[in-house]
Amino acid sequence: MDAPLIKTALPGPKAKAIIERDGKVVSPSYTRGYPFVMARGTGAIVEDVDGNQFLDCAAGIAVNSTGHSHPDVVAAIVDQAQKFLHMSGTDFYYEPQVRLGEEFSAIAPFAGPKRSFFSNSGTEAIEAAIKLAKYSTGRYGMIAFLGSFHGRTLGSLALTSSKAIQRKGFGPMQGGVFHANYGNCYRCPVGLKPEACQAECLDFLEHQIFVHLIAPEDVAGVVVEPIQGEGGYVVPEPKFHHRLRELTKQHGILLITDEVQSGMGRTGKMFAIEHFGVEPDVVAVAKGVASGLPLGVTTARADVMDWPPGTHASTFGGNPVSCAASLATIKLLKDSLIKNAAEVGAFMIDRLRELQQKHQLIGDVRGRGLMIGIELVRDRVTKERATTERDQIVDACFNRGLLVLGAGKNAIRISPPLILNRAQAATAVAILDEALAAVKS
Ligand code: PLP
Repeated sequence: MDAPLIKTALPGPKAKAIIERDGKVVSPSYTRGYPFVMARGTGAIVEDVDGNQFLDCAAGIAVNSTGHSHPDVVAAIVDQAQKFLHMSGTDFYYEPQVRLGEEFSAIAPFAGPKRSFFSNSGTEAIEAAIKLAKYSTGRYGMIAFLGSFHGRTLGSLALTSSKAIQRKGFGPMQGGVFHANYGNCYRCPVGLKPEACQAECLDFLEHQIFVHLIAPEDVAGVVVEPIQGEGGYVVPEPKFHHRLRELTKQHGILLITDEVQSGMGRTGKMFAIEHFGVEPDVVAVAKGVASGLPLGVTTARADVMDWPPGTHASTFGGNPVSCAASLATIKLLKDSLIKNAAEVGAFMIDRLRELQQKHQLIGDVRGRGLMIGIELVRDRVTKERATTERDQIVDACFNRGLLVLGAGKNAIRISPPLILNRAQAATAVAILDEALAAVKS
């Protein structure tokens, strides 16, 4: 396949017909931004049902880590599917799950013995982390961060604070959850400059939340995205994570990193927290972990994940086909794709910073590896959010054959398969350039 290659008006006739049928039977709660109807994909290229080909810098929300239908992943899936599809790790044993547990014990970003719990999604990986933190500490409180996204089931939703619409109509939320400031240096919550940063954004947690709202001895866990995803691909200063680690250690609170979006090689390291030199107690992943098959993994220090049979389980969680896909995915990541993400990501960030010189709308370009955010503003001094323009640019990219997604109120997220090559990255930047020129604030 060769992309981009747009042959019809968008959406084409077949796409239109499917979207019309979808509108009658599928929940309208999904957040479809533009009318892309998938037919097939290979590598970083996808084709819609009308034969239009697109360069994919969305990867099904940062999921197709090894590209669409990587032959090694497909072969692992077929091989496992021919043996057995399901046996439930809750009641029985099977080797693919054990092998994946061993793999996570080797790669999880902290020292010492570890154990893993397997589920089907990001939100379940976070639910497991919340329950584990409460069970192992005997405490009830949880801390999360403003702008964060941790999922939509009722436990993780209480932590999520990205967009009010995600919580609206579902209250009251689970109790005992408090939100602290995230280390968003482009919009420093305490009005400081990154050069002078001592992670003062965490003063509110230490001197307000812990003093007025919940005693730190009642807090089971702090759940933090090393790089905020849905909130706008926000990269904090390392001091933010260092201070958080110190605070959690001081009070015997578990530090849980939500690497559902940032993990599995996306940032040019297996886990994004490795960029900050901090070791958490628990890490949760999903999305890219099995290249598109449903899987969530919560890995914890073995002394923390020490709960008796019956405390937590899942019928489908860690099913053998997903485990096989994940083992093949991790091998590809280690062999070449993490390195590729680091190299092509750095190249792309440089090119996007050049675009920033040209387009006033670009207020900030940030990221690590192939987790890249472009924040759009109407005015670089006031940083007024260019939300409408962002949406128009995402649409303009689609019409030119590039799939990207929004993140936060006014950022564009670039989260391609980690096999994206330099030529494809350059094509993506050229299309963004055109789209930015077409949409002026
Ligand atoms: N955590 C983070 C950081 C995420 O980005 C997401 C999804 O976007 C989730 C959790 C929830 O994952 P899922 O949609 O698989 O439940």
